[in-house]
Amino acid sequence: MKVVWNVLRYSCFVICIAFLCLIGSVAYARSASDEAETLVIGVPADRCPVFYYDEETDELVGIGIDLMRAAAAEAGYNTSFRVLDEKTNKDALDNPDYDLIMPFGSAIKSSTGVDTIVSENLMQTPFTMVTKGNENLPPINEMHIGMLSSLTGAAETVKQLYPGIQITMFETMGQSVKALRRGKVDALMHNSYVWSYVLQKPSYADLRVQPASMFSMDFRAGTLDTPKGRNIIKRLDEGISKLEDTRKQAIILDYTSRRLYHNDFWDYIFEYRFLFFILAFLFFAVIAFGVHLQHEAERRQEQKLRELIEKDPLTGALSLEGFKKRAKELLRVYSDNHYILVFNNIRNFKFINERLGRDAGDELLKFWAHSIIEALTEEEAVGRVTGDRFAILRKIKDDAQMKVYEKGVVEPLLNYFNDKGKEIKLQLCTGVYVLTPEDYQNVDVDRMLDYARMAEKKIRNTHKSGYEFYNPEQWEKGKQIVDISGHLQMALDTGEIQVWYQPQVDYLTKSVSGAEALCRWKHPTRGWISPGIFIPVLEETGQIFDLDKYIWDKVCQDLKRWKEQGEVRSVSVNLSRSDIREDRNIPGFFYGLVQKYGLDPEQLRIEITETAYVERPEFLIRTTTELREYGFQVEMDDFGSGYSSLHMLKEVPVDRIKMDLHFLTGTGDMEKSRIIITQVIVLVKLLGMKLIAEGVETKAQADFLSERGCTEMQGYYFYKPMPVEEFEKECTKMLK
Ligand code: C2E
Ligand code: CA
Ligand code: CA
Repeated sequence: MKVVWNVLRYSCFVICIAFLCLIGSVAYARSASDEAETLVIGVPADRCPVFYYDEETDELVGIGIDLMRAAAAEAGYNTSFRVLDEKTNKDALDNPDYDLIMPFGSAIKSSTGVDTIVSENLMQTPFTMVTKGNENLPPINEMHIGMLSSLTGAAETVKQLYPGIQITMFETMGQSVKALRRGKVDALMHNSYVWSYVLQKPSYADLRVQPASMFSMDFRAGTLDTPKGRNIIKRLDEGISKLEDTRKQAIILDYTSRRLYHNDFWDYIFEYRFLFFILAFLFFAVIAFGVHLQHEAERRQEQKLRELIEKDPLTGALSLEGFKKRAKELLRVYSDNHYILVFNNIRNFKFINERLGRDAGDELLKFWAHSIIEALTEEEAVGRVTGDRFAILRKIKDDAQMKVYEKGVVEPLLNYFNDKGKEIKLQLCTGVYVLTPEDYQNVDVDRMLDYARMAEKKIRNTHKSGYEFYNPEQWEKGKQIVDISGHLQMALDTGEIQVWYQPQVDYLTKSVSGAEALCRWKHPTRGWISPGIFIPVLEETGQIFDLDKYIWDKVCQDLKRWKEQGEVRSVSVNLSRSDIREDRNIPGFFYGLVQKYGLDPEQLRIEITETAYVERPEFLIRTTTELREYGFQVEMDDFGSGYSSLHMLKEVPVDRIKMDLHFLTGTGDMEKSRIIITQVIVLVKLLGMKLIAEGVETKAQADFLSERGCTEMQGYYFYKPMPVEEFEKECTKMLK
């Protein structure tokens, strides 16, 4: 029994000891594994499938990670992978926070120049080049390639292998591809696993792998060559040696064949860019169309509103507001037109309303407004001021057109009820304000309306029908301008405008030495108009050149005819100061003319008024010089009329001075006038110019001039201007 008891006791003791040992060993084993050192390993994260972030698990994964983790585990290490903050692996080596850095092809120096050691090769990494399309590459030793700056270690290895190669480092894959496409590098180099992933990107479809350029590089972990580093590498190498090839292959296969590239947002945009473009285009087109519709609706709404404010709903004429606005616009845009502002009022309109009813009154107003609107042009406007009062902005027209208006608009109104068989004759009171040049500068429609209204009141007070002008003199002026400028072309075409000649004489021989061509206009309504009236109007309206060209041409025709008849004559023609413009080559024009008619330029004497030289001396002197270079004679007209200084006489290169007696003797002390004329004659001769006196009206004047040495003369004392036929007769008389 004691033996059994002892056996039992002994067994219990052994079992307890064994149990304690077991617990102890388990605890030891656990604490040993808990205490397994963790290696902090710095890796890049932009190199799918070798190192990258898995978007689903948000973990660092890849071939490099799995291989390293497996090797480290074999060596008894835990691993903690961190993405490298440093630009290059070389920089990262100097950061003591990492135990190891990956990947390295071979041992290199850190950025601060410390030696490193690297682990055994974890796998053989195939490196290959990628080009734009199927380009023929130069020998690898002469190439310029691009690599990512996180591959500095690999770049150094490549450089050791191919010393002639030129390598440019890029921060990102995108930058390197851009450089390749722009031809800045011949090819890009990276490990084939990365290429197999990256080249799935749709926008990289133009890049080609160059299989011929494939070579392999080691894939190692590295750290500074320190006792600690050496220890880690030693242990790690043991782990690496335990990794079987099949396991390595499985890891590589797992990442290269099973994990496909996932298109990101920009890839989709690239892949469907045409569709996207069309959709974007359609989208913007729809928006633009919508905006257009919206604007159109707003514009129509605005127009409706404006019409409501600016139109008179009863008659269709403008409202007073609308009229003022339109009148302002017209005066601004058509400031060359000559306008009148008319204020119309139907006398006793109240009586019509009372006797025939409001509707009849309304019908009359509608008829009245309608016929005015019909008669006006786009450049005119009519507005209803109040009740039966209308304001009209009209252009001044010639008498014939005025009559058309009277017949077509005024008379039908006056006879409106008569024509309907009623014994009512209407009366219209009209006030007219004629716009002055200032009215176009400073448009004040209210003031003009007031003036027209005042004129209308005047006629209303006479109890007669008809019209009254606020400013009749302005009306005359305006009519004159319109009659002249509006009729010029017709007058030239129909021969209403003629050239007359005033002979110039040599007082010594009493013979005709030349003539001045002067224009004459026989206007159909105004009769003979003096050039003193129509020349300034045409100068103002810019039509003088049309007239002068016509006159010069006619003169040349006469000169040619005379020449053919054996008489070579010289004629002076007038050149208006407004003819002479920078954009008109006047000397060339005259030269063309004499050539056209086969004349000698000397036969044309060109008169330029003295005041023109005063106004624009430089340009006039240039024109004069050019005219003389062509062989024309140039004369300074109206000498004495302006304020030409003696200095001007010296500067202006004319052939002849035309001294105007009217200006020199017209007023003041006659004795002084004589002294001045005497001195002018002396001066002009001394300056080597010829002289002619114009406006010679008496024998006494002619004798005086002749005694002082001026024998060329022109004036009523000898001849008045005359038509060409008469001039020809006078010339033949002289010959007899
Ligand atoms: P103007 O060039 O000084 O022409 C001379 C003016 O004096 C002419 O007036 C002529 O008829 C007038 N006259 C001639 N002898 C006498 C006289 O003894 N006493 C008086 N009191 N007057 C005399 P007209 O023909 O009426 O021409 C007036 C102005 O019109 C001209 O003055 C000239 O400046 C201009 N003119 C005439 N025809 C033309 C032309 O074809 N083109 C241009 N641009 N201007 C012209
Ligand atoms: Ca003249
Ligand atoms: Ca003159």
